[in-house]
Amino acid sequence: MTQAYVLLDRDGVINYDSDDYIKSSEEWTPIPGSLEAIALLNVHQYKVAVISNQSGLGRGLYDETTLTDIHNKMHRLTQQLGGKIDAVYYCPHTPSDHCLCRKPKPGLLNNFATEKNIDLSSVYFIGDKLSDIQAAEAAGAIPMLVKTGKGQKTLNNHPEIKHPTFENLYDAAKFIVSEK
Ligand SMILES: [Mg+2]
Ligand SMILES: [Zn+2]
Repeated sequence: MTQAYVLLDRDGVINYDSDDYIKSSEEWTPIPGSLEAIALLNVHQYKVAVISNQSGLGRGLYDETTLTDIHNKMHRLTQQLGGKIDAVYYCPHTPSDHCLCRKPKPGLLNNFATEKNIDLSSVYFIGDKLSDIQAAEAAGAIPMLVKTGKGQKTLNNHPEIKHPTFENLYDAAKFIVSEK
């Protein structure tokens, strides 16, 4: 049996998003229940990987060292709750770079699938924006939406979205583990 994974967007799903970007570890604050959700998934044998656009790098708002600091905080706080984030995939580009990895493009998901040798057709990708849903669809993964972050706004702007929608990551995780 291959390893089961759940893929998560970062900003607005795991941590509070900011229109001014998350530029330091001090600005990175978990949404209540999100790190517990990761631990819950782990208990049920799911590994978790993060799939994140980080155009603040390309815009020069922070550097790779700072992003490492931010992710070290994310890993540390997750571990304190008994959870583990297996891998973080991020796109450092801006829209004008026309890269293949910035969501809604599927490049980050495809990189994950290739590196981990995972068939995405049974893998949930949980995000808060239309671009997350589109990236999941383009990669052949299963999109899920949470209302945290930009999620409620995404739903308001796109009432046609019919993918499973949850109040927050913890509720999405509870649903996923209940399916097993
Ligand atoms: Mg987001
Ligand atoms: Zn990119």
